[in-house]
Amino acid sequence: MQYVNEVIATVIEHSPGQPEFHQAVKEIYESLIPAVKKHEEEYRRTKILEMLAEPERSISFRVPWVDDHGKVHLNRGYRIQFNSALGPYKGGLRFHPSVNRGIVKFLGFEQIFKNALTGMAIGGAKGGATFDPKGKSDQEIMSFCQSFMTELFRHIGPNIDVPAGDIGVGGREIGFLFGQYKRLTKRFEGALSGKGVEFGGSEVRVEATGYGAIYLTEEMLKHHDDTIAGKKVVISGSGNVALYALQKAYQMGATVVTVSDSNGYIYNENGIDFETIRRIKEDERGRVKDYADEMTGTDYFEGGNIWEVPCDLVIPCATQNEISLDSAKKLVSNGCKYITEGSNMPCTREATDYLKDAGMIILPSKAANAGGVAVSTLEMSQNSVRQYKTFKQLDRQLHEIMINIYTRIMDANEEYDLKDDYIAGANIAGFRRVAKAMRLEGYV
Ligand code: NDP
Repeated sequence: MQYVNEVIATVIEHSPGQPEFHQAVKEIYESLIPAVKKHEEEYRRTKILEMLAEPERSISFRVPWVDDHGKVHLNRGYRIQFNSALGPYKGGLRFHPSVNRGIVKFLGFEQIFKNALTGMAIGGAKGGATFDPKGKSDQEIMSFCQSFMTELFRHIGPNIDVPAGDIGVGGREIGFLFGQYKRLTKRFEGALSGKGVEFGGSEVRVEATGYGAIYLTEEMLKHHDDTIAGKKVVISGSGNVALYALQKAYQMGATVVTVSDSNGYIYNENGIDFETIRRIKEDERGRVKDYADEMTGTDYFEGGNIWEVPCDLVIPCATQNEISLDSAKKLVSNGCKYITEGSNMPCTREATDYLKDAGMIILPSKAANAGGVAVSTLEMSQNSVRQYKTFKQLDRQLHEIMINIYTRIMDANEEYDLKDDYIAGANIAGFRRVAKAMRLEGYV
């Protein structure tokens, strides 16, 4: 469609050197074509697609810190506040050496549509830093987090922007960030989510993204007269999302045969034990290799390709573009039928196209990993009324939110006759909500 192609070309021209952002804009906008066609004149006139692809505000700043040996280090921090049509900005912070403006923009752009799809009142943002928390002492992590917040605190707040965790940012980092926010502002308020339950955090936040991915998968499988029970599952990564997807999949009767980190993956045909891998990763900050060293019957594949492991359902939970075209071909030839995207944009564009053509059912990250931001939003409301719900209540609420997400996708699919194209359905359902809010608030 000409209008969509024109906008994509303009975005690429105006954001050179940001391939992940280009990929996200292309994927989302091309899938919106049926919805854009319906209102082409209005969208062209009001420049809605151009507007959505341009952040409302984009902040980058220096983050100096001192290591345990007194050596000074310098990293770059980002916060990209993409769209506030639906509510305060919301989205995670990523600490990883690969972080750059283009990656934060791709994540922030995706976040607009994901947050809209939850049906909740939250805008889209993302942030992070080029810092690598791996191998750092607690003192060094604290030093970095305090320096990062010394600039970020000016730009966030419970009714402005509420960051959470992402790769490299878990409960420990959020705690240090929150402590510094409080020191600088004198305010104990919900300016961050993912806090410890001892100081304003929500039950189920740690589990939310992984659990949500499995709840949505079960909903989709029901629709296909199938169930997760008895499925052989390959999960990549071994961080927050991977661990709790593993736990919930196991509770629902599946066998998760792998998890991984950036060094390699482990395989056990009888399943990976949740409590052992959780202890190694969360308490001991170890590597997946440590699991294989401890548990007999588990093999470790240094630098191996996890996507070569035969399975029924694959749940990538590590990072963007982790599934290449070659890996996609391997998954299909090994008979895998379903993919639930735990990580954001885990497939390259070529991989997605191949998997779709091969008839693989894809639950896109926008829907599959929305449980995290949804429970973060429940944390925001608990913070504002200072009343806290139980694990059971919040788990039930998360389950309902995931079912509602599924329904929204199916409604969009039905309206635009998209069959079971969950990617297009999720994008259209999110887009329509944001576009309407922008129109009602006045575009310019
Ligand atoms: P964590 O930092 O907890 O874990 C990330 C895992 O992925 C680690 O095992 C890490 O291995 C691996 N990994 C990260 N980068 C790479 C890489 N470049 N190559 C290979 N392996 C890598 O992150 P999360 O679990 O929080 O996030 C995982 C994904 O889920 C991300 O795409 C994130 O955006 C998405 N997500 C997370 C949400 C959340 O609530 N946490 C919410 C929504 C989406 P290693 O330790 O070796 O680096």
